[in-house]
Amino acid sequence: MQNKYQKDHPNHKSSISISNDITIGNPDQTIFISGPCSVESIDQLEVTAENLIKNNIKIIRAGCFKPRTNPYSFFGLGSEGLDLLCDIRSKYGLKIITEVRDSSHVDEVIEKSDIVQIGAKAMWDYGIMEACGKSNKPVLLKRHFGATVTEFCKMAEFILNYGNENVVLCERGIRSFGTETRFTLDVCGIEWLKANTHLPIIVDPSHAMGYRYAIKNLVLASLALNVDGIMIESHPSPENAKSDADQQIPLCELESIIQSSKTVLSSINKELI
Ligand code: PEP
Ligand code: MN
Repeated sequence: MQNKYQKDHPNHKSSISISNDITIGNPDQTIFISGPCSVESIDQLEVTAENLIKNNIKIIRAGCFKPRTNPYSFFGLGSEGLDLLCDIRSKYGLKIITEVRDSSHVDEVIEKSDIVQIGAKAMWDYGIMEACGKSNKPVLLKRHFGATVTEFCKMAEFILNYGNENVVLCERGIRSFGTETRFTLDVCGIEWLKANTHLPIIVDPSHAMGYRYAIKNLVLASLALNVDGIMIESHPSPENAKSDADQQIPLCELESIIQSSKTVLSSINKELI
């Protein structure tokens, strides 16, 4: 049977409209998304939003319901954080992407966000797939670090099959044998996805690498693969971040990443949005 995610599916939808001026999957454009791992305070979000706007970035990312591997870690501000993100959208006109950790808050995230992020650890949560599939909110599905690309696409298929065609795939690193980097960015997998699915692809090098020193080069390498977008973590003061402190870049480094990104993209005739 032919799956809806497959490239040759007759009714495929490869570009996803987020708003009048933002489409993910436009062959002439690459979307850039940035922001902190977690919402921590309104001040943190305001400083971030101002920096994003200065760099013409249109979508802010930040988690409110954080999945953590340690029960004593910061689990996010929950609904209160989501309301702060909504305030930022009203004040700055940025679109917001935030993650769902489990089905207990999926409806709230679908209602309030512009793009629902399904985190890597939630990739196999059928309750989340069903709720997202029955809505028509754009969904960014992250690949679990232990999932093959086919297993990843099959979970996207659940969302598509429930009726939501607005699915974006996100490669964020898979587990390999090395411990020197957090995960391994699967560039071969990205090429497989490009060859086998029509769904837009966004690359998240922040979670793949786990360390900020390499983020710029990984962004540039990913852009050269002609993907549909990049998502990286940034923070006003990364060393004080409440989650993923080692991998977030300081906001002051965004400008140089954006400038270099434009140079790479001009060589493949694409515009950064
Ligand atoms: C995140 O984006 O902050 C996150 C938790 O990512 P992942 O689900 O890929 O680990
Ligand atoms: Mn993170």
